Amino acid sequence: MSPETLLKEPSVQAEASLFSSEGFDSYVMTTYGRFAIALERGLGCRVWDTEGREYLDFVAGIATCTLGHAHPAMVAAVTQQIQTLHHVSNLYYIPVQGELAKWLVDHSCADRAFFCNSGAEANEAAIKLARKYAHEQLNISNPTIITAVASFHGRTLATITATGQPKYQKGFSPLVPGFHYVPYNDISAIELAIEQLDKDERQVAAIMLEALQGEGGVRPGDIAYFQRIREICDEKGILLILDEVQVGMGRSGKYWGYENLGIEPDIFTSAKGLGGGIPIGAMLCKSHCDVFEPGSHASTFGGNPFACAVALCVCQTLERENLLENVQQRGAQLKAGLNQLAAAYPNLIAEVRGWGLIVGLELQADIALTSADIVKSAIAAGVLLVPAGPKVLRFVPPLIVSAAEVDRALLAVEEALRSQAVH
Ligand SMILES: *Cc1c(COP(=O)(O)O)cnc(C)c1O
Repeated sequence: MSPETLLKEPSVQAEASLFSSEGFDSYVMTTYGRFAIALERGLGCRVWDTEGREYLDFVAGIATCTLGHAHPAMVAAVTQQIQTLHHVSNLYYIPVQGELAKWLVDHSCADRAFFCNSGAEANEAAIKLARKYAHEQLNISNPTIITAVASFHGRTLATITATGQPKYQKGFSPLVPGFHYVPYNDISAIELAIEQLDKDERQVAAIMLEALQGEGGVRPGDIAYFQRIREICDEKGILLILDEVQVGMGRSGKYWGYENLGIEPDIFTSAKGLGGGIPIGAMLCKSHCDVFEPGSHASTFGGNPFACAVALCVCQTLERENLLENVQQRGAQLKAGLNQLAAAYPNLIAEVRGWGLIVGLELQADIALTSADIVKSAIAAGVLLVPAGPKVLRFVPPLIVSAAEVDRALLAVEEALRSQAVH
């Protein structure tokens, strides 16, 4: 159907625009490879498509819908705040922004927060803070930030540069200077890099890592690696920045991913799960590295009353409903079930790994089967899953997921694997 027809016939417009390339894709830039379903409603861990088909949502907007869909506490917070005050400006004090910052500080190692709207923006803020700190406190004129191969830090120019994956950088040169990549979980590589960068007058100001690499294939950080990095940072005055955008906010079974590693970062970032699906990001830091002053950094929408009230509701609900315990229990159940599948299909499955409710299932490298194949079978079976790279299937359900729902997701994966094993 041509765009003209769509405009003339509003009754068919709704239907056609949801699916067809002539409809949706002629109006929306095709920056995403989309699965061929259109979602319009959600409740708890379930969503429905425009045909009325129900799906169990083990994607949660990619680790974002902490409390699932239409959670009563969130509905109340959204309704209450939109009726009260939704946006002003950071020209003024915003009480609920202060309350959210206090909750985050009380429940983390940080002393202070800066609010923005997304993970990439939170990481931009962290990068800017680290550079300002390097210039003012460390007297480094050409600071470098070390990041990891296979990391993911966002899609702005600075954050695709920080991201150690060429596929996100391709076509966007010149990239932002001042980054250097090392293999993840490899301590001698990072020690060597720090030494070499020092010699090249590109002194390291900060090391920026994910506590668990999400997009890069659900790869948990190694405890010994992170503890040694913390020591190196302390010895050399280097800042440790952790990108907690995907793994933070309770998903790992603790509030923050770094709690699984027995260390504390100087700076960390949060976004995805923070607002439970309402856009908000935060950069948090310890007071010793807070070199921002009025005018240093800003965001029009960042920390507005609406986003902050919803995020505060998500935080308080996590605590009130004791969701960390649910994450630990359901995560253990999910992992145990996937490990059983790995034992049953050793020719298909290489490894199961993750923390809490961020779990990855890696397929064998030497088979044609991809994570996207399984995702498609699972969709057909009524379960939404998301790949983390071509060979890793990712499970990131809402943190309110039930035991029965975990079982149902496991069943869908088993069916998908069984049909593959037969082929
Ligand atoms: C998703 C993600 C980001 C980017 O977040 P946006 O909100 O899409 O900008 C950054 N870091 C990590 C670890 C992520 O998973």
